[in-house]
Amino acid sequence: MKVFKFGGASVNSVERIKNLGKIVKQYKDEKLLIVISAMGKTTNALEKVAEAFFQGKKDEALQLFDQVKQQHLNVAKSLLVTEYFPCAVQLKNFFTEMEWLVHDKPVRDYDYYYDQVVCIGELLSTSLISYYLVEAGIAIKWLDVRDIIRTDDNFRDATIDWEYTRSKAQSVISPLFDDSNIVLTQGFIGSTDENESTTLGREGSDYTAAIFANIMNAESVTIWKDVQSVMNADPKKFPDAQPISELNYNEVIEMAYYGAQVIHPKTIKPLQNKSIPLFVKCFLEPSLPGTIIHNKSLQKQLPAIIVLKENQAMLEMSSKDFSFVGERHVGVLYHLFEKLKIKPNLTQNGAISFLCVLDDRPEKIERLAIEASELFDVSVVKELSLLTIRHYNKQLFEKMTEGKKVLLRQQTNETIQALIQ
Ligand code: ASP
Ligand code: MG
Repeated sequence: MKVFKFGGASVNSVERIKNLGKIVKQYKDEKLLIVISAMGKTTNALEKVAEAFFQGKKDEALQLFDQVKQQHLNVAKSLLVTEYFPCAVQLKNFFTEMEWLVHDKPVRDYDYYYDQVVCIGELLSTSLISYYLVEAGIAIKWLDVRDIIRTDDNFRDATIDWEYTRSKAQSVISPLFDDSNIVLTQGFIGSTDENESTTLGREGSDYTAAIFANIMNAESVTIWKDVQSVMNADPKKFPDAQPISELNYNEVIEMAYYGAQVIHPKTIKPLQNKSIPLFVKCFLEPSLPGTIIHNKSLQKQLPAIIVLKENQAMLEMSSKDFSFVGERHVGVLYHLFEKLKIKPNLTQNGAISFLCVLDDRPEKIERLAIEASELFDVSVVKELSLLTIRHYNKQLFEKMTEGKKVLLRQQTNETIQALIQ
């Protein structure tokens, strides 16, 4: 069995859904578990619905939700003929569920409501697509993934209950494949043991694909994307970016750690543990080779991999009495990072000061600065970029930092990082 994952951009229009159908048809003799995200920017739109509802603006929430409804019904109308009616019934059932929720007043915390609202996006997109595939003559089974993926109640970033999920997946999904080659379900969402919907964190559909691949011992996972393959740099920032045809999990973990948006970082472990290969393929041109990510050592030498993180802030924390910054100081700081859920992108310890580079999220930086000010004098520099090059060479590094003010630099044999003003 193979797992396919299609992201929001791949199901964003009538044409794209038809294209998904074409791709799936080419694999009609294989067992496929297909995981799909919400259409286009639906998740963002639903976030706005949840916010309005939580702020007590019920009418605004309903109005915003109406746009989501119309958009899905419009796609259904253009896409479907014979299956339009049953599809509209299914969509409307989800609409009603949501409208009931929004009619109440919020009594629980925001993250709970966020998940109850946002999960609809994936349920709507997969419903639409399942009716389309049926109408196109492709037999499938649609599954509400919330019946399978069990999580804790850490809403918006729920943790998987692997044991329950494994046994449920095996008992429910395996028999579905006896009757049909294709099982279609939602990424990103799950549910608690009290049937509350949960989500796995933004962009979490990749992770869902990896969970199923691990549990069902899939032969591979394919993530269908808008890009031709994984690239050695973000082509929007670096027009010379080149495709990478082969990577291994260790390299992808490193890339993700330094901030490359390759695939959702949680995706890697479940695949690596079972040595399941991951293909990244181009949705619009499936004949392109794409990228294969596996567990073996690499045949070819990798090109330099460039990650540029913008919007960085550097905090300099100096001991108040000019004493050395020792274990005690550093220990306190790391406790603060943990408490405030801050992940520094780079740190450096000097004699009387400690430097750390963070994503510039003003509320977090302010809290960190206030709490650290008991032990340190704190100063902040903003509007910085953090450049990371893996497999670097000196010339490339010099070219990329030419004419720029480098405030801080760190390097190992594999990786060089520079903080640029
Ligand atoms: N629809 C969700 C999001 O936009 C999950 C995903 O796309 O993977 O974050
Ligand atoms: Mg997405």
